[in-house]
Amino acid sequence: MIGISDKTYKLYLEALENLGDEFKKIDDIRMYNTNKVLNAFWNNNVCETDFNSTTGYGYNDQGRDTIEKVYAEIFKSESALVRNQIISGSHALAKTLFGLLRPGDLLLAISGRPYDTLHEVIGIKENKSSLKSFGVKYDEIDLVNNDFDYERIKDYLLNNKVKVIHIQRSRGYSTRDAIDINKVEKVCKLIKDVSSESIIMVDNCYCELVTTKEPIEVGADICVGSLIKNLGAGIAPNGGYVVGKKKLVELVAEALTLPGEGSEVGPTLGANKSFLQGLFLAPQVVTNALKIGIVTSYMMEKLGYKVSPKYNDSRTDIVTTIEFGNSKDLIDFCTGIQSGSPVDSNALTIPVDMPGYDNKVIMAAGAFTQGSSIELSCDGPIREPYIAYLQGGLTYESGVIGVLKAIDKIIRKEE
Ligand SMILES: *Cc1c(COP(=O)(O)O)cnc(C)c1O
Repeated sequence: MIGISDKTYKLYLEALENLGDEFKKIDDIRMYNTNKVLNAFWNNNVCETDFNSTTGYGYNDQGRDTIEKVYAEIFKSESALVRNQIISGSHALAKTLFGLLRPGDLLLAISGRPYDTLHEVIGIKENKSSLKSFGVKYDEIDLVNNDFDYERIKDYLLNNKVKVIHIQRSRGYSTRDAIDINKVEKVCKLIKDVSSESIIMVDNCYCELVTTKEPIEVGADICVGSLIKNLGAGIAPNGGYVVGKKKLVELVAEALTLPGEGSEVGPTLGANKSFLQGLFLAPQVVTNALKIGIVTSYMMEKLGYKVSPKYNDSRTDIVTTIEFGNSKDLIDFCTGIQSGSPVDSNALTIPVDMPGYDNKVIMAAGAFTQGSSIELSCDGPIREPYIAYLQGGLTYESGVIGVLKAIDKIIRKEE
């Protein structure tokens, strides 16, 4: 292979010989989810005229309405808000929290500390515009052994009136595993038993279409994610989605736009076709990302690194972590990924401070869409134990080649 060492390429060929069973499982899920998406297109009669656009207020945007019906069907939810006015997943999560919570209310996170960009939103890190600054209270319960602390959650709910319960499935920049849908189901049952009034909100970033079920189906009330991840498939230029109970989704819409207008306004400015086309391609692109992760896990395990998930573990999200133990290897690996990206392959990857993140972060992303992590990307905070978070890859081959370049960078250094 041009530009890849024989040693690294041989390792890839060895991986391929051993990954047939894993790939087969992923292909079966892709078939199921492609059919799910197609049926939602058919049942909601997606038409060429849905690609038309509105400007200004965005009243009566037929395509936008169709997109939201299609999302609602895929998620088996009453309602959906899928908007280009939502910047990305972080914004969707922030608007959901601001839409649902009022002064004096209590927010409880039950999968440990939420994703970094929510720290200033909640007020875990001081910010004069945080939920805390409006008098919203916050508490959290950590996971134990990668599962919910069911007893503590039950006890807490019996003794406190909790308005919103936050569950984050993907690991963010933590070292835990992603939370599979069966655990979400189990904890939703428990919550409904002891605190039926609490709203269960799921941060579903990176988990969409990885398996055959989504959070609303197993008892969540509202579920939130990013269109520069799985469901945008690299085609949506930006955006976020919120699905769930109609009255809750409308509260979020009123926080996003304005009270009284809610989801009725929102010009699509040409985004409709890309949202629909992205969704159509998403089962395929998610599969590619998963296979790249599986190949990476196999090769990095063989090279002696601690990875998660392992190559033959079942996957809940599209993220693979590799523990390097020192900043140099982490930075080199990210540099290799950057050099194997289709765009900005010559860019230097250096750790920098990022808005919303506590540590310096290194980010390799040679993407068509800025910050898009359904495209091959690799990042990590510069802190112990120096973990790379690898995700995405729009095509299988391009993703694998990027990873081979990154591995080369590390192997050559060892020689
Ligand atoms: C990526 C991510 C977010 C933020 O989404 P963006 O689209 O990058 O703003 C939030 N939560 C989790 C768990 C994530 O992985």
